Amino acid sequence: MIDTRLASAAPRPGRRRRGKTLSVVIPMHNEAEGLDILFARLDAATSDLGVKVEIVCVDDGSRDDTFERLAARARSDRRLRLLALTRNFGKEAALTAGIEAARGHMVVPLDADLQDPPELIAEFVALWEQGYDVIYGVRADRSSDKRLKRLTAGLFYSFFNLLSDYPIPSGAGDFRLMDRAVVEALNALPERNRFMKGLFAWVGFRQAGVPYVRPIRAAGATSWGYFKLWRFALDGLTAFSTLPLRIWTTVGVLAAVLAVAYAAVIVAQVLLYGRQLPGYASLMVVVLFGFALQMIALGVLGEYVGRLYQEVKSRPVYLVRERIGFDS
Ligand code: UDP
Ligand code: MG
Repeated sequence: MIDTRLASAAPRPGRRRRGKTLSVVIPMHNEAEGLDILFARLDAATSDLGVKVEIVCVDDGSRDDTFERLAARARSDRRLRLLALTRNFGKEAALTAGIEAARGHMVVPLDADLQDPPELIAEFVALWEQGYDVIYGVRADRSSDKRLKRLTAGLFYSFFNLLSDYPIPSGAGDFRLMDRAVVEALNALPERNRFMKGLFAWVGFRQAGVPYVRPIRAAGATSWGYFKLWRFALDGLTAFSTLPLRIWTTVGVLAAVLAVAYAAVIVAQVLLYGRQLPGYASLMVVVLFGFALQMIALGVLGEYVGRLYQEVKSRPVYLVRERIGFDS
């Protein structure tokens, strides 16, 4: 049932959906194939919600005709607003663009491939009325994902929560409903590395989780390879923890203690037993071990310094090529 462990306070009921607007934000990269089913499902799921609906689609540099098809649809569908980025900036940037452009009292990010079932939005809105500010979907069953993806995702979430002070509920993704106040808080965050799941957890507010079964992709193919997921995991970890940086002081001290202890053993062996230690093998092991430690430490440092550099340059998170439907 609903999970309220992250609620920072008791919900404050009394919200009314009447006259309110709900924005659905959909980042899209090469999703032309699935657009028809997406809108059919979305229309069915939102037609009797009792709120005004705005659909913000962000074309994240698609190479197929996603944008053209959306633009054609926008001519007849007044709810549709369209944002085209100048190239592929990645899902986090596209989502940021969409959330910044959304104007509703409630904002729901949604994947274009229908892996976030739009039917759940009705339940989200009901909980919003009950006074929750963030209602997130929790994947109760990930059997639609490949086993390796499930394993790596599970490892990542446990590791992330071990290191970060702001736990991401396991199984929670970007699919959620956020109150305007939460959206304002997110939009005010100046950082450029937008690891949205982490930022969603960081902002706090009264949060509640709703379990759902994650279906397989309705059409098209995922654009996340394992290498991209690895970079993504590093982005998330470095953005929410400095432990990988700080741990090297401890590792260094431990290595030094080990070295001194081993030196004492060698001295004792020579002085007490008159043993001549053949040096080559032990020397190689110690040298290589020390060398490896330094390389890892340097690599970790590099991960942070590189990101620091990115932030300092202050380039915008995304650039917009075209906007459609935003002037009404
Ligand atoms: N997406 C995007 N830019 C990208 C990659 C993906 O906007 O560079 C969108 C994609 O169109 C979809 C959502 O992000 O709406 C989730 O992507 P996908 O389904 O490929 O990810 P998965 O479900 O495999 O994690
Ligand atoms: Mg997907």
